[in-house]
Amino acid sequence: MHAAFCPPDAPALPILTVRAADWEAIAAGLDAGWRAQAKVADFKGQAGRLVVVPDTDGAPAGALFGLGDGADPMQIGSLPGKLPAGDWRLEGADGLDAERLAVAWGLGAYRFGRYKKAEPKAVRLATAADVSPLVEAVWLARDLVNTPAEDMGPDALEAVARELAAAHGAQVSVVTGDALVAEGYPMVHAVGRAAAKAPRYVEILWGREGARKLALVGKGVTFDSGGLDIKPASGMALMKKDMGGAAAVLALARLVMGAGLDVRLSLHLPLVENAISGSAFRPGDVFPTRKGLTVEIDNTDAEGRLILCDALARACELEPDLLIDLATLTGAARVALGPDLAPFYTSDETLAADFTIAAAAAGEPVWPMPLWTPYLDDLDSPIADMKNSGGAFAGSITAALFLSKFVTAPSWMHLDIYAWNPSEKPGRPKGGEATAVRALWKLIRNRFATA
Ligand code: MN
Ligand code: MN
Repeated sequence: MHAAFCPPDAPALPILTVRAADWEAIAAGLDAGWRAQAKVADFKGQAGRLVVVPDTDGAPAGALFGLGDGADPMQIGSLPGKLPAGDWRLEGADGLDAERLAVAWGLGAYRFGRYKKAEPKAVRLATAADVSPLVEAVWLARDLVNTPAEDMGPDALEAVARELAAAHGAQVSVVTGDALVAEGYPMVHAVGRAAAKAPRYVEILWGREGARKLALVGKGVTFDSGGLDIKPASGMALMKKDMGGAAAVLALARLVMGAGLDVRLSLHLPLVENAISGSAFRPGDVFPTRKGLTVEIDNTDAEGRLILCDALARACELEPDLLIDLATLTGAARVALGPDLAPFYTSDETLAADFTIAAAAAGEPVWPMPLWTPYLDDLDSPIADMKNSGGAFAGSITAALFLSKFVTAPSWMHLDIYAWNPSEKPGRPKGGEATAVRALWKLIRNRFATA
């Protein structure tokens, strides 16, 4: 059981959850002490409002928590940060899904503690909902994203992948440094060759041979300086998060293996730092790809699609039934949809519908985007098969179209994620985020949990 939870029968203080519309009726049934505390705090069930009610010695006896219109279980995610230490249980919240309430609590309890000496506060929810694996997976991804590039380079991320594989008896293969060229990952090599920590390609295989095949690909740029087309300071500040796709697929792989789904899983992680040195790749260079297409480098800051194109081609060699990639790919996706709403691309309409339903059930917002093939023209190069940047317009779409040229799987979905919470919201502490992991886990379970 995750540290944010305790068993449902543990002694725990009540948190009375209250919808604004129900407050008057509920207040009438409360004892006078609770009513007085509510009155002095002007508590009427407003969304996110918390009143901790003391006993006669001043110790917490329970709490009132406002749900507002009562529609969003994620509001519960603000409680672990606000409540005093102790064990708590939720009362009321009729009609809200107990599992989603517990997930919200677990997500909201997260703090990144690697470099802080302060002891974390022990605030636990008594619950019967079995959400610990999901909460642990999200915490893992957030930890990986939040860890600075100095401590989360390609080598450290490889170590995380190896540890995960070992814990579940999975096979791991790794190609590192100059061997990437001979082994058919020329783009991973080109993007990562300037960094002090060697680029590498990590592949994990797990599950019954003969089971349906799921391939997961994650962009693992452990720091993106932009390369020779260097980013300004404002654009570089958060670039430790440019491995958020790799972190998210590691979280998903942990869930798949931990649940023992009957699936043949392959995990593909191209891991590089996009750095600047005498060996850096340059604007105007042309490189081959694993697939065979040649690509002219129009901009060294459009590096994610380059490492992904070799990883996607490799994943497709294994003939997956379903291929999903996640990448912190473009700023254009954020301009279009902001930080919270994850854009996804697929030409499989059944998959798009299934994913939309799964995401709604998981309470995680996603939005379909068009693979508008006429914009492929924007990727024309005069001297190579393609160039790596489509210019100023529709940047997230042209990035997805670039990737599509390397995919042969019958069903493919690409997510252009942010992997970061820019401000504190319930269940979403500021910092690294496992964007779309809850939605994708729901989709994967729906697809693969039954034969
Ligand atoms: Mn970049
Ligand atoms: Mn990048």
